[in-house]
Amino acid sequence: MGFEEVGVTSVSWDRLWKIQVPAKVKFLVWRILRDVLPCKVNLLRRHVEVDELCPVCGAQPETTFHIIYTCSFAQSCWLLSSLGWSPMTSLQVWFNNLFSSDRETSIEEAFMIMWSLWSHRNEVVWHQKYQQPFSILSRARSVHSEWNATCVNISSHIAHVHPDSALQTHWKPLEQGAFKCNIDVALLNDGSYGLGMIIRDYTNYCCAGRLLARLGLTDPLIGEVLCFREALSCLKSLSFQPVCVETDSQLVFQSLNTSYAFSSYFAMIINDCKALLQELQFISYAFIRKLANQVAHSIARAANSMSGYEWGVYLPSFLYDSLSFDLNNIS
Ligand SMILES: [Zn+2]
Repeated sequence: MGFEEVGVTSVSWDRLWKIQVPAKVKFLVWRILRDVLPCKVNLLRRHVEVDELCPVCGAQPETTFHIIYTCSFAQSCWLLSSLGWSPMTSLQVWFNNLFSSDRETSIEEAFMIMWSLWSHRNEVVWHQKYQQPFSILSRARSVHSEWNATCVNISSHIAHVHPDSALQTHWKPLEQGAFKCNIDVALLNDGSYGLGMIIRDYTNYCCAGRLLARLGLTDPLIGEVLCFREALSCLKSLSFQPVCVETDSQLVFQSLNTSYAFSSYFAMIINDCKALLQELQFISYAFIRKLANQVAHSIARAANSMSGYEWGVYLPSFLYDSLSFDLNNIS
């Protein structure tokens, strides 16, 4: 798996996601590599009316490569870092060069600087707030070291709770071309249930997600099976194929493989799910542990404040922590 989309070879998406930086930084780098950052030239391509000039230097069209690397301001920042700056012909050439390094710390530093440069660019656009290059570097370093300190705390906590099953509890992406849909249910403050789902591709990229609050629902098991049915209906209308739906409800998982002779509300919904699975052959399903399903759980919990919310590639920020946990624990 290489960065084929941008013609970058010899590096893998897996490596990108394993770089030890905050998830928001990895997502930014992912967007840079796919050239979907909302820089002005990309906005013009999407027919948004803006002038094309770089908001920071005002001298060149703002492409992704410009704002992150060739802009005179970006050059000054890179020159202050341990990586330095030298002319590169394209984003692809520069990334290949960066990933040819065996020093993970150089890549971490580069990712943090890219994030800090893009944050600065947004501050200039929205608040006319200009910084000096050394401030870009110092923010990159301080955010990275704060994040490293938090990670040490989280991993010691997890090791304590799950001393001998850490690997099995981790979320894992599927093989190339396949999608995963994680679903979960959470009890909300008012006694109803929130249902959450998130779809990720084999590069661990979040393609879509949604959350719903179910008022008047008091049985968690009904919640779990309704959530499963909701996910199947939703996947029917989307184009993520093949896809595996992961639930941490063992009972739902087992019930899908059981014949029900009696009728109950639960059995009725299970039968609906079975019919949908029969129809939608591209969907499989699996049982996973709760610890491997934290992102879906975070979404379900958020239904307290934002039911009916759906998103595509622009993730809600409340997911960063749980996504970061998954990304940093892929074995
Ligand atoms: Zn510029």
